[in-house]
Amino acid sequence: MILTERLIRDHTLTRKEYEELLEKAGNQEIRARLAQEAVRLRKLYYGDKVFTRGLIEFSNYCKNNCYYCGIRCGNPNVKRYRLSQEEILDCCENGYGLGFRTFVLQGGEDPFYTDERMAEIVREIKTRYPDCALTLSIGERSYESYRILREAGADRYLLRHETADEAHYRKLHPENMTLDNRKRCLQDLKTLGYQVGAGFMVGSPGQTGAQLAEDLCFLEELQPEMVGIGPFIPHHDTPFAEAEAGSTDLTLFLLSVIRILLPKALLPATTALGTLDPKGREKGLLAGANVVMPNLSPVKNRKQYDLYDNKICTGEEAAECRQCLARRVESVGYRLVEERGDACLS
Ligand code: SF4
Repeated sequence: MILTERLIRDHTLTRKEYEELLEKAGNQEIRARLAQEAVRLRKLYYGDKVFTRGLIEFSNYCKNNCYYCGIRCGNPNVKRYRLSQEEILDCCENGYGLGFRTFVLQGGEDPFYTDERMAEIVREIKTRYPDCALTLSIGERSYESYRILREAGADRYLLRHETADEAHYRKLHPENMTLDNRKRCLQDLKTLGYQVGAGFMVGSPGQTGAQLAEDLCFLEELQPEMVGIGPFIPHHDTPFAEAEAGSTDLTLFLLSVIRILLPKALLPATTALGTLDPKGREKGLLAGANVVMPNLSPVKNRKQYDLYDNKICTGEEAAECRQCLARRVESVGYRLVEERGDACLS
């Protein structure tokens, strides 16, 4: 039986087999077959619903220096900002009125946000919006810190592992960061009962098919509730300024594969996909994605959260973003819903 059918039947392959499958990513027939199965599975568990997450980029300070990232601490050209608690709450109020029932607080690893400060913000949002889910995306912290934030009310945590391959991890990150710690964080988050999101960049500099196969095996092992993948896009103020961007097609292929290996996963059609291809998010939905993440951050700060070049949706108000996405979602036969959008457990 060919690999595609084996994956569809068993929802798993060996590392070597994933590598072989990835070598066929350019084959139209295989791509179409995987996308067809991915869509069948997402409809089985989620019907025609697409969930929205209101993204609030609340700080672009970061103590880390990941080589691919526009807001890494080593970039002196970033105009840094932090939103005050009131500004964050204003974003939530605006978002709630627009129908968002999940808020994602995303920021660099900013030491200003101690456990106490962060827990206070989490508590306040959960008190004001008890029917909403709150997702944190604030990087690597200690078990104790994750515990405090979970107890304060955080429901979910996004922490892309970026690559599960040690050698590739070393190419993308400075010495003081380790893949082991990243994996430890993800395990801690699972232990604490968060709905966990992992994920990786597709086409980051020097990445091989074997390394992507390793990412797929890692996802199988971790069993995250969410998986965020997007094509690598270079940023002009990083050591990878001249590197080639990742491929939209390979990202779409991997979205379908991930839907099949984790059928109930929440898979965003990412902004990075929409940046590389004007129809990237629609194509993501057609490849098996079921989540979109419009930006709720104040327009005045949007351009400062500059992770990679030419990021889209930095000029529109949140309401415009939501309407635009609702139209895009409808254009491919799905509908944007006003729900928390938890991972399907049945
Ligand atoms: S990728 Fe995240 S942790 Fe790394 S420098 Fe950028 S914001 Fe900081």
